[in-house]
Amino acid sequence: MTKVLYPGSFEPITKGHMDIIDKASKMFDEVIVAVLHNPKKQNSFFTPDERVSLIKDLYKDYDNIKVISSTNACVDVALEHNSQIIIKGLRNTVDFEYEREMAEINKDISNNKINTICLFADKEYQFVSSSVVKEVFRLDKDVSKYVPPFVKEKMLEKRKKIYE
Ligand code: ADP
Repeated sequence: MTKVLYPGSFEPITKGHMDIIDKASKMFDEVIVAVLHNPKKQNSFFTPDERVSLIKDLYKDYDNIKVISSTNACVDVALEHNSQIIIKGLRNTVDFEYEREMAEINKDISNNKINTICLFADKEYQFVSSSVVKEVFRLDKDVSKYVPPFVKEKMLEKRKKIYE
């Protein structure tokens, strides 16, 4: 059985992330979506727990997609879950250069146990990132093209809470 780890900050999860999860879940037996976060970074829109519960809700009907969160190193999280493969999504050459470096580092610090497989973003999601979503949302524009309806709903709820 081949388990893969798909790590990210998912702040919030976008249709681009979901496209990668969808592709990976068709290629491998199990995809573990890992919300990795730095406990020292406090000022995020959604807390790590909120991000996890959002993603869990989106994939509640999928048996081969699990969601976890951790503050540990990505390679350690992969090994803790018996996975030797990290999945990354590539949108452009900037992602490529960054992920190429990360793949080497992760292989190195895991004593060659962990390899990275990159999947290409579909063209409609090449410009989608969590930061773009947050910026468009901040400008009070519609984010429906970039996130699923459930995530948009949660973003609106969160904003209401912040300003109440
Ligand atoms: P971001 O890069 O948007 O801040 P993350 O850190 O959560 O998001 O990214 C996790 C992984 O998902 C990375 O490998 C990133 O390159 C990939 N990814 C992010 N957005 C997309 C997208 N629109 N299409 C494909 N892959 C993506």
